Amino acid sequence: SLTIGIVGLPNVGKSTLFNALTRNTVLAANYPFATIEPNIGVVNLPDERLGKLAEIFGSERQLPATVSFVDIAGIVKGASEGEGLGNQFLANIREAQAIAQVVRVFEDPDVVHVDGKVDPSSDRETINTELVLADMQTIEKALPRVEKEVKIKKREQAELDALLAAQKVLERGDTIFSAIESDKLDMENLRELNLLTAKPFIYVFNTDETILGDKEKQAELAAMVAPAQSVFLDAKLEAELVELDDEEEAREMLEMAGQEESGLDQLAHVGFKTLGLQTYLTAGPKEARAWTIHQGDTAPKAAGVIHTDFERGFIKAEVVSFDDLVDAGSMNEAKARGKVRMEGKDYVMQDGDVVEFRFNV
Ligand code: GDP
Repeated sequence: SLTIGIVGLPNVGKSTLFNALTRNTVLAANYPFATIEPNIGVVNLPDERLGKLAEIFGSERQLPATVSFVDIAGIVKGASEGEGLGNQFLANIREAQAIAQVVRVFEDPDVVHVDGKVDPSSDRETINTELVLADMQTIEKALPRVEKEVKIKKREQAELDALLAAQKVLERGDTIFSAIESDKLDMENLRELNLLTAKPFIYVFNTDETILGDKEKQAELAAMVAPAQSVFLDAKLEAELVELDDEEEAREMLEMAGQEESGLDQLAHVGFKTLGLQTYLTAGPKEARAWTIHQGDTAPKAAGVIHTDFERGFIKAEVVSFDDLVDAGSMNEAKARGKVRMEGKDYVMQDGDVVEFRFNV
């Protein structure tokens, strides 16, 4: 499944954030038989379109798409040397599709910083260094084999060149992800190595209320980590928000902190985007639901997310864009206006398509 691994130095607020993530889970209500692993936090992707669909179709319930986060504890200086926790730590990161690093920005004399002072740039370097070192080891290990296979023409020269280019990036201390564009890295030929720093990065800046209101400081931090995405939140506030039963009260608390959306919701949005995902929608009297697919997926692939039989027996998809459907006010009116299309197996799904699949079983 698609997960985002949460990493960070000790005492930056990872557990606080992760507790908020797991407390927030609505999985239990929506999927009563799902087993939830303790180190997995599942967050709903907020989607206002579902409410509108539920109105139009009279749906009993709404099921949004979800984003999963896995808590990857244990990064410390020296993790890449593979001692103790280190190895397991790296293995866990390898399984995640993206990495979210929690970086401490909040000042609090009562919370000790492992390096003595709050310094987001240096914290980021510490983590990057461990991941970069681990990737350098991976490449060094692979090189002799690839060189040999190029010599006996079992592999293309391009594959070796891709590795050497990646090695150069790592040697100057940069992550692969940050250099994809600048160094025109051949990601296709690097995929096999599953390099840690090739994964998309998200930076979660754990701030306090002053910085939540300080757009200038935020822009500065965001620029520091670009092209990686940034999220600014206050983990302590997030933990308090999920404890509230009253939605109105939660909204007021957010507003007071100068936030339009909770940090968890922002994280879900950014995570979804970072993973290259999008949603399509289905609706009926029972439920209005968002389904997760990759950008660029075709209609049969999308149908397969509901059930593998749907993909195998795919005939066609009846598609209307969400906006057209809402303008029309009902499915029948949308049809009357010619806004409902029949799409075949080559159709590339668009975000917000409202779909009904026709299939053979
Ligand atoms: P972890 O070691 O990264 O998992 O960090 P924790 O989540 O255990 O947090 C370490 C300490 O920092 C705890 O005492 C938290 O209450 C505190 N803390 C976490 N987030 C914030 C924050 O946003 N502001 C403040 N002032 N303290 C925080």
